[in-house]
Amino acid sequence: MKSYYTNFSSKLDNDYIEFFTNYLSELGFSFRSFLRKDIKNKKNPCENKEKLLEKLRQEIGNCHRCELYKTRTNLVFGVGNPCSKIMFIGEAPGEEEDLKGEPFVGKAGRLLDKMLESIGLSRHENVYIANVLKSRPPDNKISLCPESIPKCLPFLLKQIEIISPKIICCLGSVATTALLKRNEPITKIRGTIFDYNGIILIPTYHPSYLLRNPLAKKEAWEDFKKIKFLLNELEEEENV
Ligand code: SF4
Repeated sequence: MKSYYTNFSSKLDNDYIEFFTNYLSELGFSFRSFLRKDIKNKKNPCENKEKLLEKLRQEIGNCHRCELYKTRTNLVFGVGNPCSKIMFIGEAPGEEEDLKGEPFVGKAGRLLDKMLESIGLSRHENVYIANVLKSRPPDNKISLCPESIPKCLPFLLKQIEIISPKIICCLGSVATTALLKRNEPITKIRGTIFDYNGIILIPTYHPSYLLRNPLAKKEAWEDFKKIKFLLNELEEEENV
């Protein structure tokens, strides 16, 4: 694990940057012009985001919109900086998340924190993390409650609207399918760049999957390198 997620900057060489820039161009992404337009249009993008998220949380309240309220301990809304340029979206709270009321605080969450750290990100500083479902499914099996997704998804869509990130990283197939409405296996579409309503969306593996399949960490690392590249581009553009 450590070998993939440390010293990122030393591994991001010029060949990779050139290759990835060409790759984006072939996909029809004019990343820099997209950012320029966005920056011009939003003079103070951070204004009110925190208050709007608090308001949304109040609106959700002690939600009974689906059956999952019966078994949850805490509703898990989200965590991070509302002004983040990047959002990470998982599927649902697990046992530890349910107890603490915060997403990704169990074993998978600790792995996610390491992966974020390897590209200079931190849940308390420059990312926002949320799930598709805000309440824990029984036995962590989201397949047992498919009817909950359409009921809960509007809350996530509102979070995305308020935060308006430049990049979304979907962790696993549930989040990817919920946003893109595509059913391909995550093994097939991970690392692909999609346009989600003007936001760059990159699916990658869920950290729980990586814990069960350590060999997939290498591919996840490739996906995180892309994310780091895009964030660097964003930073450069903002400093022009
Ligand atoms: S999963 Fe979503 S819709 Fe269902 S009870 Fe929890 S917050 Fe409400």
